Amino acid sequence: MYLKKVRCRDCGGSKVTPPSTAYVYCDYCGILIDWDFQIAINSSESAQPGPQYEALCVALHPKMEEARLAGDMTRYTECQRELFSLHAEACPASYSPRIGDPAYREAIANYLATMQTISAFDEETMQLSEEMGKAMRTLRWVGTKVRSDTFWKLFDTYRKHSETVLSKCEEMGEFENHPDEVSRELAARIGYSVLAQGWLPHLAEEDSERLLAVTNLGGEYANLKDPELIKRHCGNCGGDLPVVEGARRVLCEACGFRVDVTAAEISCQECGAPISPPDGAGTQSCPYCNAEIRIIR
Ligand SMILES: [Zn+2]
Ligand SMILES: [Zn+2]
Ligand SMILES: [Zn+2]
Repeated sequence: MYLKKVRCRDCGGSKVTPPSTAYVYCDYCGILIDWDFQIAINSSESAQPGPQYEALCVALHPKMEEARLAGDMTRYTECQRELFSLHAEACPASYSPRIGDPAYREAIANYLATMQTISAFDEETMQLSEEMGKAMRTLRWVGTKVRSDTFWKLFDTYRKHSETVLSKCEEMGEFENHPDEVSRELAARIGYSVLAQGWLPHLAEEDSERLLAVTNLGGEYANLKDPELIKRHCGNCGGDLPVVEGARRVLCEACGFRVDVTAAEISCQECGAPISPPDGAGTQSCPYCNAEIRIIR
């Protein structure tokens, strides 16, 4: 099993099971600990938005422009939130597996909408966007590859833009509202990953290597032997949930809920099936028979 070496910033546990998406969650406490760029480039399954989403973009655009020109940040954020909610529904693969949890979905839409609003209303960011556009227009190609100097000029404008938005978010305490409690560094890396996925095929080898180095998207991989897993059952979706020994909270990648695995599984009072309850839930309807299960911790 080939795995990126990563340690949890919260509990110190090392990652021992392969994540199914680029979002790497801790096997022991269930928080987002890393972004695996190799998985991101190898699973290009983030489906393109469908016609329904495109129609919404077109429909919302004038409303959004109106709000922006009127300086109405609240209304602008509201439009962005609506857009993100629909995008998440149309292209769940573009998001964390936690997108299946409605509470997460709402929180991430709020976070992303606020980020967009900060960019749209901030003088400095707007100017940097313009510079980015200019650098795009002056890109030059040598055969199928971008000419090195013109690419790095573009990258510089992207980095400045990204750093400015991230600094503003940090000042406003926005990272604390992110449902994955990302660090600034991790937020930046996820952003750079999108850029790198798009540009790597068009870069000369030297530039590709340099891009992975400056964006910190590389990382060290190791061949690990499969860990011993204990079989549990997700209390939300009823799916099998293999967990490592010593885990307290894990993410069910099938449904996106975080599941509490501190205690032994509880049995449904109706059908007797064992489940591990979703994190923080006081009651839970049984995923197999629908009966209400009281959760006593
Ligand atoms: Zn952890
Ligand atoms: Zn589940
Ligand atoms: Zn049941």
